[in-house]
Amino acid sequence: MNKPDKSRADNPPLDTVAEFQRRRKLATRYGAPPLIVTVLCVISTIVLFNIEFSSPILRVNLVIALILIGIVSWALHLHFEGKYIRCPNCDRMPSLGTRGIDVDPVVCPNCGARLREYDSFL
Ligand SMILES: [Zn+2]
Repeated sequence: MNKPDKSRADNPPLDTVAEFQRRRKLATRYGAPPLIVTVLCVISTIVLFNIEFSSPILRVNLVIALILIGIVSWALHLHFEGKYIRCPNCDRMPSLGTRGIDVDPVVCPNCGARLREYDSFL
């Protein structure tokens, strides 16, 4: 009873496109703030290493705190991306193998469902 590639026929392209773009907005809404925090932590750590500081111990403590916050924020960012950036058709992340995930693919690399309209971005 295996039907060959029925995804295109049974799922109108607009449905998977609209649903995936909706999920992508959620991923940005929840995933962007922790990403910004991570970037700020990295910048602050670099700045801390390059300015004169009265107390070396305080500097070390600040760097450790920044690194911990940065790791937690990065984990949160990855968590939200993995939670929301999923193909509506097969519910898998659009993985590119070792290159990570494609956050805005035209078609799902797993099942071939359309995830973005070719001309939707001017
Ligand atoms: Zn898919």
